[in-house]
Amino acid sequence: MRVGVIGGGQLARMMIPAAIELGVELRVLAEAEGMSAAIAAERVGDYTDAETVLAFAREVDVVTFDHEHVPQDVLHALVDAGVPVHPGPDALRYAQDKLLMREGLSRLGLPVPEWARVETPAELDAFIADHGGAAVVKTPRGGYDGKGVRVVHTAAEVAEWFATIAEDGRAGALLVEELVEFRRELAQLVARRPSGEIAAWPLVETVQVGGVCSEVIAPAPRSAGKLADVAADVAIAIAEGLGVTGVLAVELFETTDDRVLVNELAMRPHNSGHWSMDGSTTSQFEQHLRAVLDLPLGGTGCHEEWAVMVNVLGGPVEGTLADRYAEAFAGHPTVKIHNYGKAPRPGRKVGHVTAIGSDLDDAVYEARAAAAVFQD
Ligand code: ADP
Repeated sequence: MRVGVIGGGQLARMMIPAAIELGVELRVLAEAEGMSAAIAAERVGDYTDAETVLAFAREVDVVTFDHEHVPQDVLHALVDAGVPVHPGPDALRYAQDKLLMREGLSRLGLPVPEWARVETPAELDAFIADHGGAAVVKTPRGGYDGKGVRVVHTAAEVAEWFATIAEDGRAGALLVEELVEFRRELAQLVARRPSGEIAAWPLVETVQVGGVCSEVIAPAPRSAGKLADVAADVAIAIAEGLGVTGVLAVELFETTDDRVLVNELAMRPHNSGHWSMDGSTTSQFEQHLRAVLDLPLGGTGCHEEWAVMVNVLGGPVEGTLADRYAEAFAGHPTVKIHNYGKAPRPGRKVGHVTAIGSDLDDAVYEARAAAAVFQD
């Protein structure tokens, strides 16, 4: 069994141990030499070039992804050539374009923030006026880690985005949403096989700093019961309604008036599921491989009551993560450390740590303290 992963980042890298354990051969089409996943049988090539991607795909049984940036025409070229692609282009387009995603979720009747497609500053100002004088504007494509997301009080604050879309025939519009008053952010991960089986992990709480995920607590505190059921139902409805295969991450807002709204979708393993590598019977990376190969899914129960994942953002100013191993391992022997093999750079996700246990405060303390060893 051979799985081809397009994209050589840390998500592809973390699929490697899962593939080795299952005896699955993993091949990676990386964007450049020396990327995070370079230790897999790596090809380097342009994922926007259909010939390059087709040549890569001919050597594997199924193609999947480390990111959602492969263009639709390339994805369709694979499908037309008979290559199994999971998630397929018709699902993936909802994760590639936030306007399409809002349209798709609204069509399915799922709870989303109030939103509109705006093509002119006047339309945006009208939306802002109707929504209490503030709104969140998003570029439909290419945003990540909070880039391409801006809270505004007037359309003038995104004048350059309007200038860009005027030149860009593809997008032609911005997404505007109500500024949601949320108590916290949550994420629901599920995995779905092409033949339909779905497995859901527990709902988790995610903490964002400056638009970047910093911590995840699994399960989300005070989420047992109705909240967990609602979140799982929403994610399952999305997976089925949009025909998603593989891992689907649904980012959610828990509003101050106790509603659950869908913020974002990712159709691949996701930062909010990294805890599962050490905290769940089946990690999101193993589950993704099982799902895209259309094999029965693994259990999603937890080893301990709590798992806390903290990202290592930036890393040490001088040297590498490994330079701090002696201190981290000695001080935090129960914490699991994951190094993405990337050069430290301010704000960059270079690794994560996970602590599991029966006491939440203790797990939070341990994970934060271990992550701090790697940061100046
Ligand atoms: P990306 O995935 O590109 O980083 P998101 O759409 O997830 O962008 O937005 C990044 C962050 O911005 C969210 O995690 C949330 O904290 C905040 N945010 C996004 N949309 C809204 C909204 N409608 N109301 C309030 N905050 C928002």
